[in-house]
Amino acid sequence: MSLIVQKYGGTSVADISCIKRVARRVKKTWAAGHKVVVVVSARAGVTNELIERAKAIRKNPSDREMDVLMTCGEQETIALLAMALDSLGVPAVSRTGWQAGFITDGLHSKARIREVKANAVRKQLRAGNVVVVAGFQGVNDSGDLTTFGRGGSDLSAIAIAGALKAKSCQIFTDVAGVFTADPRIVPNACKIPAISYEELLELASSGSKVMQTRAVEFAQKHNIPFEVRSSFSTKPGTQVKKKVKSLEDTLVSGVAIDKNQVRVSVTELPDRPGAAAAVFKVMAESGVVVDMIVQNVARNGKANLTFTVPTEDAFRAEKALKEHLSDGSGGKLGRSTNIVKVSVVGVGMRSHSGVASTFFEALANAGINMLMISTSEIKISVAVSPEFGDEATRVAHRAFGLGK
Ligand code: ASP
Ligand code: MG
Repeated sequence: MSLIVQKYGGTSVADISCIKRVARRVKKTWAAGHKVVVVVSARAGVTNELIERAKAIRKNPSDREMDVLMTCGEQETIALLAMALDSLGVPAVSRTGWQAGFITDGLHSKARIREVKANAVRKQLRAGNVVVVAGFQGVNDSGDLTTFGRGGSDLSAIAIAGALKAKSCQIFTDVAGVFTADPRIVPNACKIPAISYEELLELASSGSKVMQTRAVEFAQKHNIPFEVRSSFSTKPGTQVKKKVKSLEDTLVSGVAIDKNQVRVSVTELPDRPGAAAAVFKVMAESGVVVDMIVQNVARNGKANLTFTVPTEDAFRAEKALKEHLSDGSGGKLGRSTNIVKVSVVGVGMRSHSGVASTFFEALANAGINMLMISTSEIKISVAVSPEFGDEATRVAHRAFGLGK
C-alpha cells in the first residue's frame, strides 16, 4: 500500500459543496488502495477575514495571538472534511498542525519547520484511517502555536510528504499546473508536463507564482518531488522535481511577467567607492527588495544608478532615498516610473548560447524597446514600458516556440 499526500487549497475547499467534492476525490484515491494524508487550507477568504477582525480590535496585535487566530481557519476545514469523508463511509480523523507533529522555531507568522514528528499520523494510517491535517501551522518549543506565512499549507504538505516518505505529493489548486506563460495573456500557452524546482522558483520570483515560494525551496532542499494539479479536473498536472531530462534540450521552459515593478533612479551619483553601496544599504535597512540594477559609465565623475523595486515598496524606497540624499553630497532622486518585467526561464540556458540574442531580436522585431536587462544563470529579464508588457510576453513565447 503506497502513501499519497494530497493538499487542497482555499478555493478547492471554499464551501460545503467544494468540501464534499474534495471528499469524493479523496475517497477515490483511498478506494484504489492507497493510504492518504490530506492537508488542507482554510476556506478561501477565511484567513483574510480573521486578520480583518483582529485589525478591527488592534492595529498591531501581538504576533502570538495572531497565530492563535490564524490557525482557526484550517482547523475548521479539517473537521468539516473529516465529517464529509465519514459520511461517505471513509474512516477519517482530523489533526491540527501540532497534533500532526509539526515542530517549528519560535518565529511567529513565518515559522520554520524544524521537524515533523509524524508517529501519531503513521499510527492512524496503520489503523486504516485517512488523516486530515491542518496546513499552515505548527507549534514551537514553548508550546505556542505558529504559522508558516501566507500560502503556508503548501509547505505543510511538502514537509509531511517528506517526513512520511510518501510515494507522491499532489498539490491540488485552481489552476491546471504550471504553464509556459499566463494563458490570460498568451492564449496558446501550454501546461508544462515536468519542471525542475529551480525553474519553478525563478518563474515564481519573476511573477508567475502557483505555490508558496518557501514550500518550493523546502522541496528543493530536501528533494521532495511533487505535482501541481487542478482539483476541478482529473487531468495530470505538472511534475516538479530535481532534474527533468526532456527539458535539458529545451532552451526556455516558460515566460513570466511581473507588472508590479517600479523603476527608481538616482542621478548624478558621485563616481567613488561606496556611493552605490550607501544607496543599497538604505534600501536594505528600509526592507525594500531591489531587483534589476543598472549603473551607467560615469561621466564627469557622476553616474546614474537605476534599479527596480516592487510597487508596494516604491513609496518607502523613495522616502528613504530622499532622506539619504537630502544632504546634497550623494546624488539626486530621479523620477520613478512603472515598468513591466518580462523574463524567460530555463535550465537549458546553462549549456546553450544564443538565448539572449533570440529574445532581444524578437523584441526588436516587434518594435519593443528594452529599458533594462538582468540575467541569472537560468533567467533573462528585461524591463519594458507597461504598454508593451503583454506583447513582449507573447513575442518571447513565440520566439522560443513554446505555444501549442
Ligand atoms: N490559510 C493560509 C492563507 O490563506 C494558508 C494557506 O492557504 O495555505 O495564507
Ligand atoms: Mg493557498
